[in-house]
Amino acid sequence: MKDYDDMGFGTRAIHGGQEPDPSTGAIMPPIYQTSTYVQSAPGEHKGYEYARTGNPTRAALEKSVASLELGRFAIAFSSGMAAISSLIKLLKSGDHIICSDDIYGGTFRLFDKIYKNFNLNFSFVDASELADIEQAVTVKTRMIWVESPTNPTLKITDIAGVAKIAKASNAFLAVDNTFMTPYFQSPLALGADIVVHSTTKYIAGHSDSLGGVVITNDAATAERLYFIQNAAGAVPGPMDCFLTLRGIKTLHLRMERHESNARKIYEYIKRQPAVRRIFYPGDPTCPGYSIQKKQSTGYGAIISLDVGALQNARAFLAALRIFKLAESLGGVESLAEHPAIMTHSSVPAETRARLGITDGFVRLSVGIEDVGDLIADLETGFGAIS
Ligand SMILES: *Cc1c(COP(=O)(O)O)cnc(C)c1O
Repeated sequence: MKDYDDMGFGTRAIHGGQEPDPSTGAIMPPIYQTSTYVQSAPGEHKGYEYARTGNPTRAALEKSVASLELGRFAIAFSSGMAAISSLIKLLKSGDHIICSDDIYGGTFRLFDKIYKNFNLNFSFVDASELADIEQAVTVKTRMIWVESPTNPTLKITDIAGVAKIAKASNAFLAVDNTFMTPYFQSPLALGADIVVHSTTKYIAGHSDSLGGVVITNDAATAERLYFIQNAAGAVPGPMDCFLTLRGIKTLHLRMERHESNARKIYEYIKRQPAVRRIFYPGDPTCPGYSIQKKQSTGYGAIISLDVGALQNARAFLAALRIFKLAESLGGVESLAEHPAIMTHSSVPAETRARLGITDGFVRLSVGIEDVGDLIADLETGFGAIS
């Protein structure tokens, strides 16, 4: 949306892509719940033919997210996994992909259990070490895939550094920006070619919809992705697009509160004797802290901690009342989960061990409730560890 591109994040969140509906003036983009569009004569239509190919609610969402990510094009999908799966369809059999070893469990499963069967070759490396990425490059490398911070150990990757390696190797760099959101981090501005989001998380923000989006500045890549969106068909429904657009309007306010709560909770947790290790990119002793400080404007609201043993993690999680035990993250409500048993159970046990995802490992998604209540809740949790 050219009109708002030079304006602040909050203005873009509220107005980007969201012009009043041209046919009625409705200030919110309507939920165009239709599968087809009537033509006045064969081939004469108003830009919409069939809902897999195009939908005005989806188009509004795509423009809005493109504006937030400082990208020219955004292509929306039915989930974060559908977005990632569609992105992989840019590649060909025989291509090589370098990938962080500490990624979203579902992304690892998609690569390792499905796309490996299509003769795509993956190298999983510690992407927080640029030298490890550089060493993994081959003549067949077409894509480098990173998340920063990673999930769930919150390791930081130098995005601008990886972008240089990608350029030099004729590969494209894709960054999953779900944890940071465009409010805190703009990978395209750091040199990435493609940004991916699970909008299910912070972007929609209310744990009431599923979605994914791919953003790029490259017209040829965007054209190919629109083709894949229509040809493979993993499109979001208009209701989910509407809910995501509604969530986006408060993204900047929510992220401020998520993060200020998370900082206070980090200060509290790091003093707890039951905590063996704490993982938070805002922790100055975290190895990626200085890179995070340089490439982002915040630290996010995911905190992981290790309480030493499975029985401690179980007791802690069972005692929490406000933090709900659930997978997912990024909604207004605080969640807690056990990665080894829940989100990361598809990661092989020896990989989990190498990454430090132990049986005492707990991940918190800090919500936007009153922080005093959240800390009191955690206090009850720590009290339950004997
Ligand atoms: C949740 C998540 C995904 C997958 O998104 P879905 O919308 O659940 O399909 C991908 N990457 C990250 C970092 C996530 O947190």
